[in-house]
Amino acid sequence: MNYNSGFIFDIRHFSIHDGPGIRSTIFMKGCPLSCIWCHNPESIGFHPETYVRTNRLNGKIFHITETVGKKMSVEQVMNEIENEIIFYDESKGGVSFSGGEPLSQPNFLKALLKACHQKELHTAIDTSGYASTSVIQNILPYVHLFLFDLKLANDSEHQKYTGVSNQLILKNLEFIYHSGKPIIIRIPLIQHITDTDENLRKIRAILQLYPHIKRVDLLPFHTIAKSKYERFGKNYPLYHADPYDSQKAKDIAAFFSETVETVSIGG
Ligand code: SF4
Repeated sequence: MNYNSGFIFDIRHFSIHDGPGIRSTIFMKGCPLSCIWCHNPESIGFHPETYVRTNRLNGKIFHITETVGKKMSVEQVMNEIENEIIFYDESKGGVSFSGGEPLSQPNFLKALLKACHQKELHTAIDTSGYASTSVIQNILPYVHLFLFDLKLANDSEHQKYTGVSNQLILKNLEFIYHSGKPIIIRIPLIQHITDTDENLRKIRAILQLYPHIKRVDLLPFHTIAKSKYERFGKNYPLYHADPYDSQKAKDIAAFFSETVETVSIGG
């Protein structure tokens, strides 16, 4: 097996939302979850996908073919972010790995992290936490920060809305916490699903177990992903949902501020 290459569906340059400072975010393709609110539906499949769209202009029909995801080597990824390293240094930024679920390509991820480590770059992993604990253990020496999602505290609701149990996720949170690596918790705010009083209370109770976690990012539902579902011909259960109410997000931020030092809205 070639550990030196894997599937990427995007590389975002000059990102400021996936960790400290200015960063490059590498979006790795494939996710074992299927959250009904997923804002990156094109990230879920593990291999490149080709879509054909039909557009009409002045009575003519055009077919546009688009492929999402491509195989890249560690060297190709590093070459693509090479020119930005100077900005990481100046802003105390670095490289973030997101997805999809980056832990789902463990060998490729480790090779990328090691390449960053050799260049002394700060690294962050944006994860659902759903992976074998041994995978996390294996990459731990090369990771500076985890951006760790907590979606639903109740296991059967977690299974209903994301397709998987939260038991492994909670176990991995405990494992990372006790490793001493910094963690930022990310909570998607989805109307009537993750933002119920009961769920938020239970998530806060989980956070109270981990007093060294100093920051929570609330990620309110937005409607930008709608166009992606249309573009890729995928069914979107939340197609008609409104953007998240900003006052409600502020109220939830105040609720978590009672437990956590820093709570931000939007990451
Ligand atoms: S974990 Fe993230 S990428 Fe995976 S399905 Fe859920 S929202 Fe989408």
